[in-house]
Amino acid sequence: MIPFSPPRMDDKIIAEVTDTLKSGWITTGPKTKRFEKQLANYAQVPAVLCTSAATTGLELILRWFGVQEGDEVIIPAYTYCATANVVLHCGAKPVMVDCLPDSFNLDPELVKKAITARTKAIIPVDIGGFPADYDALNAIINDTEIQKYFNPNTEEQRNLKRILLLSDAAHSLGAKYQGKSIGSLADITVFSFHAVKNLTTAEGGAIALSLPKPFDNEAIYKWLNILSLHGQSKDALAKTTGNWRYDVVCAGYKANMTDIQASIGLVELERYDSDTLVRRKHIVDAYHAAFCEDKRFEIPVTDTESKQSSYHLYQLQIKDISEGERDEIIQKIFKLDVSVNVHFQPLPLFSYYKNLGYKMQNYPHAWTHYSREISLPVYYDLTDAQVKTVISAVKQAVEKMIGND
Ligand SMILES: *Cc1c(COP(=O)(O)O)cnc(C)c1O
Repeated sequence: MIPFSPPRMDDKIIAEVTDTLKSGWITTGPKTKRFEKQLANYAQVPAVLCTSAATTGLELILRWFGVQEGDEVIIPAYTYCATANVVLHCGAKPVMVDCLPDSFNLDPELVKKAITARTKAIIPVDIGGFPADYDALNAIINDTEIQKYFNPNTEEQRNLKRILLLSDAAHSLGAKYQGKSIGSLADITVFSFHAVKNLTTAEGGAIALSLPKPFDNEAIYKWLNILSLHGQSKDALAKTTGNWRYDVVCAGYKANMTDIQASIGLVELERYDSDTLVRRKHIVDAYHAAFCEDKRFEIPVTDTESKQSSYHLYQLQIKDISEGERDEIIQKIFKLDVSVNVHFQPLPLFSYYKNLGYKMQNYPHAWTHYSREISLPVYYDLTDAQVKTVISAVKQAVEKMIGND
């Protein structure tokens, strides 16, 4: 069976983790701090805070910005549930918008229409690693007419004077938008290092800060560090120097990354551009070549003049099929010993959001993309021979279902 997305765990990672385990320091410490500096350098941002997950990172930022009951946050309907749940945790309302007709990413025109006096943040998602339309989104938040609507409730909101652009970049570390790295394109960008993501620390995430003046990103880093550790004025490492007394300055959260996780991340980041992304692009290019001239398929866009994907997902679509036919094709592919997946079930399909009143028919493009979509395996250890097996399994399954035309 060809798995869908196993992590790349080799001797280099085992050696680095072992080094941490034997070092006498396993929670947040020197390796996490080193990983943060290297991520900031990689994403071209002034500061990065590592967290226990992207989810906790996103929630920390919404809490920091003071998003609360009565507020709205605009998110895509086509995303993983974390994007919505962090908004709900804060007591605010996720306002879902549809994707573009020809892309899995959210439609900026619909974002604009969804803005009200209650909107505090927009969370775009770079689905599959393909960047959202950051120019259009930045133009919206900086539009002086739209800024007049903005209703600040907290000091942070009064300082920003406009809607916060918070990128859910769980898929897109290393992607590029007009030559710039993902991280530097929104006010704040959150990456995920979950086991299935491009760069993994088993579980983990990072907040990349790129806020405009008058914000001091270094100072916000320090505050978020405290907020991610129960509001303690000193972390465990700082207390080891004999300076044991600390204060609790707010009812903070528990969202820190451990040095065990960071040691995996350090190895992963070092080889990310030179090795990981090269291999992922190679696999994606092989899929493109196999499916682009076959009229039954619609291949995902990964590279344009202004955007370059991080090749996180290969979201293949099969034209003119129903949801049920797609599901049957997936069963046939599994019977040929290939694991595939669906990214994503739009949130209004899930019972929880449905019960909150979100209706699938309000997101027609999300429905079309979802109902015809099959994600193919993309990961470092997938060999060229396995890529061929995947391609042949997909083609055979589709042929059995809808024939050859
Ligand atoms: C994986 C994912 C997350 C959550 O990441 P965690 O690190 O598991 O919290 C958030 N948003 C999207 C779009 C994701 O795919």
